[in-house]
Amino acid sequence: MAGRRKYKRPTREQLRAMTPQERLEHTRALERERSARYYRRHIASTTKAERRARAEELTTALFDWSRLLPHIERLPSGCWLWTGPFRSVFGDVRPWARAGALGGMRADHIVCCLSRGRPPPKCFVSRTCATVGCVSPTHLVWSNRAVETAKNRRRHVESEELAGRVE
Ligand SMILES: [Zn+2]
Repeated sequence: MAGRRKYKRPTREQLRAMTPQERLEHTRALERERSARYYRRHIASTTKAERRARAEELTTALFDWSRLLPHIERLPSGCWLWTGPFRSVFGDVRPWARAGALGGMRADHIVCCLSRGRPPPKCFVSRTCATVGCVSPTHLVWSNRAVETAKNRRRHVESEELAGRVE
């Protein structure tokens, strides 16, 4: 980690002249740099016991409806729109619940934990509605990679079928 050369930021002109592929590589380089920085600051310098204590502290601070509800706007459609901050997680924008010096956690993950219990092994939160930033407990479920892949494949087939009917 320490010997790694720092990523050279492109100038604004260079950034504008980039092809989509170069732009993607640029985004990935920034993300790699950020995760390396996070690793050095929060993981490499701490012990396992410290990390566990911090996670416990974060959980008790955040797993509480009263901290989440002020950031939620209930829409007539049944969706609960997150009005708090968002954060890019592996290129996807996710609602983010901040917890001061402790950092924070994905708000949709917390809501799903509160309404459905802790995630089963290898599972993650998935939204069943189309509203970006929705954290409604009834629209969030625990899902896994196999389920998501099947869902995406089905969606792809459906759109292919519809494409055949485009005039
Ligand atoms: Zn929703």
